Amino acid sequence: MTERLGHFINGETRAPAGGTYFESTNPATLEVLYEAARGDAADVEAAVSSAKRAFKAPSWAGLTATQRGKLLRRLGDLIGQNAEELAHFESLDNGKLLREMRGQLATLPEYLYYYGGLADKVQGSQIPTNNLAVLNYTQREPLGVVGAITPWNSPLTLTTSKLAPALAAGNTIVIKPSEYTSRTILRFAELASEAGFPDGVVNVVTGLGAEAGSALVDHPDIAKISFTGSTATGSAIASKTAARFIGSTLELGGKSPNIVFDDANVENAAMGVIAGIYAAAGQTCIAGSRVFAQRGVYDELLERVADRARSIKIGDPLDAETELGPLAFGNQLEKVQYYVDLGVDEGATLFAGGKRPELELPGYFFSPTVLTDVNNDMRVVREEIFGPVAAIMPFDDEEEVVGLANDTEYGLAAGVWTRDLARAHRMSRRLEAGTVWINMYRAMSPMSPRQGFKNSGVGIEHGIESMHEYTRLKSVWINTDESPLGDPFVMRG
Ligand code: NAD
Repeated sequence: MTERLGHFINGETRAPAGGTYFESTNPATLEVLYEAARGDAADVEAAVSSAKRAFKAPSWAGLTATQRGKLLRRLGDLIGQNAEELAHFESLDNGKLLREMRGQLATLPEYLYYYGGLADKVQGSQIPTNNLAVLNYTQREPLGVVGAITPWNSPLTLTTSKLAPALAAGNTIVIKPSEYTSRTILRFAELASEAGFPDGVVNVVTGLGAEAGSALVDHPDIAKISFTGSTATGSAIASKTAARFIGSTLELGGKSPNIVFDDANVENAAMGVIAGIYAAAGQTCIAGSRVFAQRGVYDELLERVADRARSIKIGDPLDAETELGPLAFGNQLEKVQYYVDLGVDEGATLFAGGKRPELELPGYFFSPTVLTDVNNDMRVVREEIFGPVAAIMPFDDEEEVVGLANDTEYGLAAGVWTRDLARAHRMSRRLEAGTVWINMYRAMSPMSPRQGFKNSGVGIEHGIESMHEYTRLKSVWINTDESPLGDPFVMRG
């Protein structure tokens, strides 16, 4: 019989209130891996009320910031000790290469160590107002119960980016993982319990977005929603949180430019283009899906990228030799094929790939694809595909490419390849993107803040700045003077 996984609520595994489950499938083999609890409003209610109790309980609210930091560091250690199991689970669930998952797991503890170290550095300041009798200071307080809603493409990393600063600041959390990747987040919550986080501090309700996800956003006791996912879902969530005046951090989609100038190290630039669009089968928010190559280097870059695309080893993500695994589920494959066909209908040339490769495995595989003869008017260049599809375009000069690169609704990331230092700085200033990489692509660190510009998001993840997303600022005024207060009808500074 297929293994069944419950929710994780108040420190224990719980069967779903409605008694129903949904299947999770291995996208490489199409085998059913397990069934996860199909959460509904009753499960969300149980999780949020447990998180609400835990937020006030002395076992959590009574901890010092240093003690919270210690728990986060212990969780980091446990993640490290269980890395191999977690890497396997996530690779089976979403088809990411096992070796990429091992790399992610090697750095995941750093997120918990980093925010563990920041826990006792969340501080306010003393403000010199113009009233010498007044002592005014600010303090940062936790918000309460944070709802975290995460996607399937890097569930562990993206969830930890929310959980670590939220808990460091003293909040409690209810996580709704993607319906395609429930298992690692449930295991993560068990490890949090093992690390010593009190019951109710970390809760997981699995289920569908329209059911469990929506119920979490609608719950009146949620103090903030931290969401990573598509721009469409983020927009729907933002209208609900705005109507209730609660905050939201939204990390959304992208259509990032990767720009190669004539003076670049072409070999490295080609590698950067490959990493940007074919790593993780293009299923990353920061995918460098629009490649702009200056005319002098265009032919060489195109050949290099297309040659490598054609020779990429596609197959079982658990195999150490594999370079490209499957897309995460059937709809993803249909969507990617739809966009490639649409591109060709719009006038693009299929330079490499473009279809499912011949393989023994039955899963949702798609060949690394290069489209040329494309322009910014085409939907294939404007819309996020979330697959291994690069649109490669020539440009003449800096002015032109800045215009082309910024002509998008998104603003998540951008890459620039040049040996000209002044141009590198000029470009990083002019590009409308929250992250700009120069002569590199697809780097991330818990220490470095990241933010989506334009329709790619609101709010900051990572870095010290992210701690502030999970606190509210209180201003305290103390009159140190016993003398009469004076005219009650005049405001005092
Ligand atoms: P998605 O928006 O379909 O789903 C994300 C999460 O939201 C899932 O847990 C889903 O169940 C839930 N959800 C769906 N509808 C909901 C609703 N009405 N109410 C509440 N929750 C709901 O996104 P996805 O397909 O899982 O992920 C891919 C998207 O995520 C891409 O657009 C990608 O660019 C984006 N992404 C962004 C970042 C970033 O840091 N900016 C990182 C990774 C992925």
